[in-house]
Amino acid sequence: MTSRSVDLLIVGAGISGLGMARMAKRQGLSPLVLEASSHLGGAIHTHHFDTPDGPFWAELGGHTCYNSYGNLLELLEETGQLNTLQAKEKLRYKIQIGDRLESIPSQLNFLELLGVLPRLWMSQKAGRSVRDYYGRLIGRRNYAQVLGPALDAVVCQPAADFPADALFRKKPRRKEVLRSYTGPMGLQSFVTGIATDLEIQTQTPVKMIEKGDAGYCVSLHDGGQIEANRVALAVAPDVAADLLRDLMPSLASRLDEIEMAEIESHAVLVRAGDTQLPEVAGIIGHEDDFFSVVSRDLVPQAGYRAFTFHFRPGRLSEQTRLTRICEVLGVDNSAIISSVSLNNRLPALRLGHADRIAWVDRQLQDLPLGLTGNWFQGVSIEDSLVRTSQEFNRLIG
Ligand SMILES: Cc1cc2nc3c(=O)[nH]c(=O)nc-3n(C[C@H](O)[C@H](O)[C@H](O)COP(=O)(O)OP(=O)(O)OC[C@H]3O[C@@H](n4cnc5c(N)ncnc54)[C@H](O)[C@@H]3O)c2cc1C
Repeated sequence: MTSRSVDLLIVGAGISGLGMARMAKRQGLSPLVLEASSHLGGAIHTHHFDTPDGPFWAELGGHTCYNSYGNLLELLEETGQLNTLQAKEKLRYKIQIGDRLESIPSQLNFLELLGVLPRLWMSQKAGRSVRDYYGRLIGRRNYAQVLGPALDAVVCQPAADFPADALFRKKPRRKEVLRSYTGPMGLQSFVTGIATDLEIQTQTPVKMIEKGDAGYCVSLHDGGQIEANRVALAVAPDVAADLLRDLMPSLASRLDEIEMAEIESHAVLVRAGDTQLPEVAGIIGHEDDFFSVVSRDLVPQAGYRAFTFHFRPGRLSEQTRLTRICEVLGVDNSAIISSVSLNNRLPALRLGHADRIAWVDRQLQDLPLGLTGNWFQGVSIEDSLVRTSQEFNRLIG
């Protein structure tokens, strides 16, 4: 049981919470981070398979970072990690059509593309759904056959009703940095580096936020309480809603409106020679039980290959997921050396989201309470950090 007082308390040790803590540390503050689970990084979750040749990592959640991730790169720079970035192989994504693995261009209808070409210069993303915007841009058939499934794979959920401007926001690139990269042991290396020197209590789920003497009184599930001048919630919207229900009921009910998508992620390790699957960046599912497959081929390591399948929720049991995985890899069950599964969640953003967030921000104005995460600008790691940086500047200045 804890009872203490801090200046800045951050709830959640995903990249948003850790990023905010690092920004605070940069300004000479000593933030306290509380994390419900024993894992640091939230949706960044690198698994280490044990093999006789040493650990072999695979990403169960976030997997790719780009040189347009300015806030992340700043965090990596200040934690001495910029020179550790690992390049990725130049491999292509393929698309799984039933039992066939096809190239993406082979599925495109080029006549339809030619017909819609003039629209490339006229289309506006604002106020339009992904289906509407991209469907007009590349044609309805091409959207249904190729781009729709590819975008579902990007956000690991049906993307059609996402606001078009929540995907692929233009951000400046740092040309001197690798275009796409990971860490020496996957993205978890970045998390570990960013978390160094921060005060983090894991397995400490927060239960409720109330008004306190100094600012807020934060109640923990173990009965402990922490007084904080300023609090930042870096958790999913439904979790933030629960924590704020008594303190700000109308804000909580607006946050309740934001849906969350469930993803059943399942990673397998096989010996390199056991599957004939060509080397791929990943696989896009087309009307399949999975949205996508993320491959370790991008960062090859002799002897083994690993694949993480991101399945639609509630369709297959753990065993039938393995059966589908074996079909796609073209192997028997006995070829699976090891497997691990994890339930992931991501926000399912919808049209009108920007207005909701503007309303949320008006409620937070002038309060020493911050809200951040992957449900503001967009769902990527950098989108989360862009929001985090904005909230940090508002709270701390
Ligand atoms: C399968 C998948 C693939 C992805 N691929 C990519 C990719 O390639 N590139 C990319 O840029 N992005 C990717 N993303 C998105 C990106 O990884 C996430 O959006 C980002 O990591 C979210 O960070 P966050 O800190 O905002 O939230 P989270 O990572 O969800 O962190 C929230 C944290 O809060 C903790 N928490 C919850 N409740 C409490 C409580 N009551 N008290 C204390 N702590 C609590 C949770 O345990 C968690 O650690 C992917 C996501 C998934 C799921």
